[in-house]
Amino acid sequence: MPLRCPVEEQRFVLEHVVRISELTNDTDIVDAVLEGAAQYAEGEVEPLNRVGDTVGLKWSPDGVTMPDGFREAYRHFVEGGWGTISAPEEAGGQGLPLALGAAVMEDLNAANLAFALCPMLTMGAIEAIGAHGSDEQKRDYLPKIVSGEWPATMNLTEPQAGSDVGALRTRAVPNGDGSWKITGSKIYITYGEHDLAENIIHLVLARTPDAPVGTRGISLFLVPKILPDGSKNDLRCASIEHKLGIHASPTCTMAYGDEGGAIGWLIGPEHGGMRAMFTMMNNARLNVGLQGVGIAEAATQRAVAYALGRVQSARAGGPSRDPVAIEEHPDVRRMLLRMRALTMGARALTYYAFGQIDRGHRGDSMATMRGDVLTPLVKAWGTDVGCEVASLGIQVHGGMGYVEETGAAQYLRDARIAPIYEGTNGIQAADLVGRKLGLDGGLAFDGLIADIRAEIEAPALSALADAVEIAATTLRNAETDDRLAGSYPFLTMCAVLTAGWLLERQGRAALADTPFAAVKRAVSGYFNTVVATEALGLAAGAEAGADLLYSVPAEALA
Ligand SMILES: Cc1cc2nc3c(=O)[nH]c(=O)nc-3n(C[C@H](O)[C@H](O)[C@H](O)COP(=O)(O)OP(=O)(O)OC[C@H]3O[C@@H](n4cnc5c(N)ncnc54)[C@H](O)[C@@H]3O)c2cc1C
Repeated sequence: MPLRCPVEEQRFVLEHVVRISELTNDTDIVDAVLEGAAQYAEGEVEPLNRVGDTVGLKWSPDGVTMPDGFREAYRHFVEGGWGTISAPEEAGGQGLPLALGAAVMEDLNAANLAFALCPMLTMGAIEAIGAHGSDEQKRDYLPKIVSGEWPATMNLTEPQAGSDVGALRTRAVPNGDGSWKITGSKIYITYGEHDLAENIIHLVLARTPDAPVGTRGISLFLVPKILPDGSKNDLRCASIEHKLGIHASPTCTMAYGDEGGAIGWLIGPEHGGMRAMFTMMNNARLNVGLQGVGIAEAATQRAVAYALGRVQSARAGGPSRDPVAIEEHPDVRRMLLRMRALTMGARALTYYAFGQIDRGHRGDSMATMRGDVLTPLVKAWGTDVGCEVASLGIQVHGGMGYVEETGAAQYLRDARIAPIYEGTNGIQAADLVGRKLGLDGGLAFDGLIADIRAEIEAPALSALADAVEIAATTLRNAETDDRLAGSYPFLTMCAVLTAGWLLERQGRAALADTPFAAVKRAVSGYFNTVVATEALGLAAGAEAGADLLYSVPAEALA
């Protein structure tokens, strides 16, 4: 069953949730981008999803060979300017809202998550170099990165330094001419090596001589695979991982400086690496949330098509009757509506967050802070939704979901990485209660809740808003461990509340007598009754404190 990108839905969310006409005067271009992206994703990228999964990648000491078809599809990505949508105009981008670029990325994620990872990480690098790079870096690298001719990577992780990024050991020593020699090894580097492009621009975190310990001593370097003089830099892909999913996305162990040192240049000041990297990571975190949305959309479409076509004669637990498609069973209906509602909720939350960043770029500092508050919600809840919906998609297929040929299983295998990378969802929850809850003296978070309260009508949603406020007060006054113990359930409550608010707004705006509007109203009704009420139950976990979790040693749980 081929993917149909949800153009009407995306347009509706951009209008009613993002209010995109306040961000660009050119609404014609919005339609052109949505339709063109859908055509490209459906026609060129999705047909490669299966071959990417089944054939995968080939590693050799000379590099990584992508599956058949990927090179051509990527060439068309570059030629079509799909990476330039929301990149800055001065770097050859189109300067359109990030929220519109998000719709493009959602389509690519839905079509082929492994393929979409290459442009996704490149976008984060564009932000980091744009915000922290030197004039020369912006002149010499940004235009080719923006066009996609030179995709970029993000090199943080080392065996001993994952969530604990401050423990990284890769070293950078000055060459005396403004460049640095980088030596060390990085693991799990997405698209660290491939044959889609003539050059790859690595953004590498490393430690300079005498740097302070921990994250304060980290610096960010631009390390190209091919140096400006055309020679190959001293770096290589030592191996690639064999993974549960995203088989066509090369996850590389990168060796820097086997022959003395890879040449790199500082991005931003020495020891300013975490700041620069956070610019990149914040963008990437929203984009990873979007991966959840894309997978959820694709999984839902596939499950609905299967449920409509699978005919059975008996109705379990009820009177037998004539053959019916399984979509008529109330429990299958429950799964399909839940999948659709979670997908639409995660999309609304994610696009809304991108829209806040857009408003921030146009000078609204309150919107920037709201974007900061929303980022962990989008990343963690969006990716949880991706996994839950993909898992329900398998369930709808019954046994056929567990065998590979329907494609339902691939969605779950592919989706499962998203709660892990780009700061695990546990780290997102810690970020929410550790930094975001207190941002601007708490005003950023409280302002969001006040705006939600001013608009919501559903009783379960109002009750959830009450519960979120009570839990927020408890967590603000709690000891650190108690706060962290409640962080994950609290994050889910906040995300469901925000998504429910935005779905309700859409349900109210969907007045037409069309199937599309009917779905909007049904989804709002379901989400703000069932999902909002479930989230209310999370308050117990949010407020229980750490003692409940530490009453037995971990060994006893084995
Ligand atoms: C397919 C794939 C692609 C990747 N791509 C990249 C990439 O392009 N660039 C890159 O730099 N890295 C990449 N990574 C690495 C990824 O970001 C890390 O795996 C991730 O940050 C987790 O680090 P870790 O694996 O060391 O797990 P750990 O940090 O050991 O975490 C293990 C568990 O402990 C929890 N935990 C650890 N510390 C805390 C804490 N302080 N609070 C609460 N919970 C905590 C985690 O949430 C997790 O559940 C990729 C990984 C994979 C698998």
